Formats: sequence, structure tokens, C-alpha cells
Amino acid sequence: MVDIKHDAHALLKRFFGYDTFHPMQFQVIEHVIHGKDAVVLMPTGGGKSICYQIPALLKPGCAIVVSPLLALMKDQVDSLVANGVPAAAINSQQTESQNREIIDNVYLGHIKLLYISPERLLADMDLWARDLKINLIAIDEAHCISHWGHDFRPEYSQLSLVRKRFPGVPVMALTATADRLTRDDIKIQLNIPDAKTFIQSFDRPNISLSVISGISGREKLRRIVGFIENHNGQSGIIYCLSRKSTETLATNLQALGINAQAFHAAIPTAQKLAIQQAFINDDIPVICATIAFGMGIDKSNVRWIIHYNMPKNIESYYQEIGRAGRDGMKADALMFYSFADVKTLMNFANDSGQAIINIEKLNRMQQYAEASVCRRRVLLSYFNERYDHDCGNCDVCNNPPDRVEGTKLCQMALSALMRTNQNIGFKTLIDILRGSRKSDIVANGYDKIKTYGVGRDLKASQWNAYLLQMLQLGLIFIAYEEDSHLKITELGKEVLYGKRNIMLSKFYYETTALSKKPKQEQAIFNEEEEDLALFEKLKATRKAIATARKVPPYVVFTDKVLHMMAVAKPTTKAQFGTLYGVAEAKTELYWMQFTSVIKEYLSNKK
Ligand code: ADP
Ligand code: ZN
Repeated sequence: MVDIKHDAHALLKRFFGYDTFHPMQFQVIEHVIHGKDAVVLMPTGGGKSICYQIPALLKPGCAIVVSPLLALMKDQVDSLVANGVPAAAINSQQTESQNREIIDNVYLGHIKLLYISPERLLADMDLWARDLKINLIAIDEAHCISHWGHDFRPEYSQLSLVRKRFPGVPVMALTATADRLTRDDIKIQLNIPDAKTFIQSFDRPNISLSVISGISGREKLRRIVGFIENHNGQSGIIYCLSRKSTETLATNLQALGINAQAFHAAIPTAQKLAIQQAFINDDIPVICATIAFGMGIDKSNVRWIIHYNMPKNIESYYQEIGRAGRDGMKADALMFYSFADVKTLMNFANDSGQAIINIEKLNRMQQYAEASVCRRRVLLSYFNERYDHDCGNCDVCNNPPDRVEGTKLCQMALSALMRTNQNIGFKTLIDILRGSRKSDIVANGYDKIKTYGVGRDLKASQWNAYLLQMLQLGLIFIAYEEDSHLKITELGKEVLYGKRNIMLSKFYYETTALSKKPKQEQAIFNEEEEDLALFEKLKATRKAIATARKVPPYVVFTDKVLHMMAVAKPTTKAQFGTLYGVAEAKTELYWMQFTSVIKEYLSNKK
């Protein structure tokens, strides 16, 4: 009898140096070990890779990992190999004979994880299915298969064939961004209707959220410089909408003595790789980029993200800010927002070929920017996650608008929804609440329901603002697939039945967000002085090792591991080996160098 739990933990410790699984990881592993399909939704940094890496190691044979991004593949393979896991990638950047050799190694059972692009898998599918012992097929960035997703890729569509061609091999779809519709669509498109869905909380509590609206370009630059100074030396990315603005901004920052580089699709490939590498290696701290940057980067110590312009939808925004703080340490996300952004994005959306979906997604993004309730609540409600308290780590929480008791008001709206079987949208709901005599209201008999006209004291614009807050607080959601009708969530039901009270932000006639005082940005690191000095020494050691081994510093150890080391100060191999995030292979390789730095530091301190 194999003891999956015991074996999985042993592998986690041996190859990754961790003692415990993150929420959901073990459940997913156990599920696929039993041969069943799974859809795994976890935010960036949630630890998706472990979900397929451990089963790949547990079972005989090799796992195939489908990934659309070459750079990410390389990074993952480097990290695995550094941890002693036999992994490889097949891609168009290698010669055919190199690829051939890798396939031979899979055949011989020497490879446990094989990363591959969707095109390539499909081209050779017969070979994979017939000759090789495949134990799992993991499809990363699985939202790319859905039109509802924000990053549809035609080359993903054909992956629907995988389920049939690999009978008996579990399929695991993974993504960091999936709203309710995308999530359901992934199952349909991949032909895995019975797959179990595993959702880890999308909350990234370590990332602070703030928005600054309606300021001039010059003022924006001033704020950015102040922000970067507060984050002295730490890595961060500034996302811009256009190539030109990445360049202008980088030039302006350089003129002010900040080591910043522009990055966009039109820069020659070699130069792009060099910039990316310099960022990864902590040599250039600030990158001004279009969204082309960061996709394939797994750098765990990005400490901040600035959005120079508002992104086109919440999925993109969430994915981009998610590139910060992947090591779990404190990180900051700041977004600038102006009506000019909305105008530009509206044009993009109109020309996108999916205008209706994309305009709706843009509206939701704009509502986030203007939110008068906790921003994290807005984000998590958008992803249909229950989150029933204020976060305390966003600008709205830190600088709250005036609140009023809103339970009764919410109950009026929720009750009207209930009595119309949740088959109406915003406009009709407001008409019912305000007792409108419009013909469709009367024709549907809505003037006969009990809540008809109970809200006539409020103007339609006020109801609009309050209903938006109810949406953002997660009391209701919009079912886009049903004519955008409003539906009541579990949290909403608790309010309706008097089990929970709700405070609403007071309605102002001007949008509150634009008049709000901008929050003072704050410095983020408050490690003890002493440990920080040791941390810097450990960082230098890591950098030297990374340079010698030609890998990014975080492949040697993440920031988090270095911080733990600076706190625990191990001086022996045994102590070193028990550290969080230090796998066996790395203990062997690095204990000597790090412990001697620590010993020296300790003896100098005496
Ligand atoms: P995702 O692909 O979901 O963005 P990754 O798989 O890259 O996330 O994991 C993010 C970080 O979290 C990595 O540095 C990884 O080593 C770490 N990690 C994953 N699982 C665990 C765990 N159980 N305990 C501690 N750290 C973990
Ligand atoms: Zn908050």
C-alpha cells in the first residue's frame, strides 16, 4: 500500500525544501493520483506548479506540461534541474537533434517532467500517446482556450483532442485568472466535463492596492519618482499602454538618476532578452513596459507594480499586480487612472472583434478604479470569491469615505431581485424600486410585487451607486450569460435574511474617487536593522553563486529563503538543511558558502 500523503510530503521536502503544502495543493495531487481530471484555479504565486510536479514524481512515467510561453518553460526547467528534478523542454529554439535526444530520454524513463508548446504536442500527439509512458497532462494558462478568458489563443483550441487521445491519463488544467464563466468554459473546451474544480483563494493579502486618479502627467512623474525612492533599490515594473510612453517614461526617470529601462515588443529580441536578464539578475531595478513584459518571468522578488495607465480589464490587472510579491513578502501595487485611459481603451475594445465582452470587462475595471469600497473586496467579488470583510491593506481601507448603515437599503434591492426570480438587470431593478410606470414594468406585473416603489426616496443615480457597491461587496453578481441579469450570492442572502449588516459609502454627486485625498505612499520594509545587514551579505553571496552558475539569483534561493536564513542564522549543515525552502540538492550545493558567511557575520558582531 502506498501512502500518498507520506510520499507526497517526503517529495515536497526533498525536492523543494518545504514542510507543508499550500491550501489545495495536496487535494489536487491526491485527486490526480487517482487518475481523475482537475481544473486548478490559483492566483499567481499560489503554487500551481507543485500540483503537477509532485504527481509527476510520484507516478511511474513522465508528465507533459503544456505551456504557451517559452521563457517560462526555460525558467521552470532551470529551477527544477537546480532542485535535482529531471526535467526538460522541447521547443523551437532548440535544434531537432536536441529535441530528439530529449524524447529518447523520456522514452528511457530519464525525464519526469517535459515542458512543451501546444503546437508541438499536437504535431507529435500519436508518438506521445503510443510510445511513451505519460502519467499526467498538465495544461498551464488554461484560460487561453476560452473566448471568455482575456487571452484567447487559437493554438489552444485543438487541445480539446488531448482527452480522447490519452485515455486513462489524467488531464489537469491550471490558470491564475478565471472568472466563473471562463472556469466553466475551460471544462467544456477541454472535453473534461467531469473534472473537479479546485479553487484556492485568489486573495494576495501581501500586495497593497492603491489608485490615484485624475492628476497631470507631470504630477504623475513626481509621484512615481517618490514611490521608487521609497522602494529604494527594489525591483518593480511600470506598465504603460503604449510603446512610446514606456520610452518617454524610462528616459525621464533616467534623467532623474533612476536606473530604468524601456521594454516593448518592437525592441530587437536580443536586446529584450538582455533587459529581461538584467531585471531578473537584480541589475536593473525598474522596467517601463508594455504588457509584453513579465509574462514569462517567474522572478519572485518583484516588490512593486505601477500601472501608468488603467489596464483593459480586471483579469489583466490582477495578473500584472500578481507578478509582485510571489515570495509572499510585502509588495505594493499602485495604479493611475484617468478618463483619457478609458477613452483609449474603449477604442481598443470596440476594435477587438469581441466588443461586447470587452467593453463590459472595461466597465468593471473602471468601476474598480472608482470604487468607494475596499478594493480587495471588489477584486475578489469579481472572481466570485466570498470575502466578507475589509482588507485593511488598500487605499480605501486606509482612507475610508463616510459610511452609512445600508442594510435596509440592500434588503430592499435584494428582496426585489428575489421576487422577480433574479431575472432582471440593473435598469429594471431601479425602475421597480423607484416605482416607475414604464410599460415593461407594468406589462411584467412588476408593479404588483411587494417591493415596488419602496425606494422612491432615492434618485436613480443614487440607486445606481448603491447597487454598484452591492456588486463590489459581493452581495450580487452579474450573470453575463443570462442577459446580464443580477443574481444574489450567498453573502447577499445572509444580508437579505438579516444575518449580517452592511455599511455603504455615502453617495456624493461627484464621483468620490476623484476627489479623494491621495494616500501617502509608505516605505514597505521594516526588518530589524541587524538582520538586514546579514540579509545584504546573504544576497551578495547569492548573487555571486548565481553569476557563477549562470542562473537568476532567485533560482539559487528566493528572497523569502534569504530572509528566513537571516533570522534563523544556521551555522551547520544540519541546521541549514531544515530551513524553509531549502531542498536536499541545494543543501549539498550551498550550505558551506552560506553558513560561513553567517558564522563570519556572527563573530564580527561579538
Ligand atoms: P504559480 O505558478 O501558481 O504562480 P508557483 O508554482 O510558481 O506559483 O509557486 C510560487 C512560489 O511559491 C514558488 O517560489 C514556489 O516554490 C513556492 N511554493 C509552492 N508551493 C509551496 C509550498 N507548499 N510551501 C512553500 N512555498 C511554496
Ligand atoms: Zn481594503
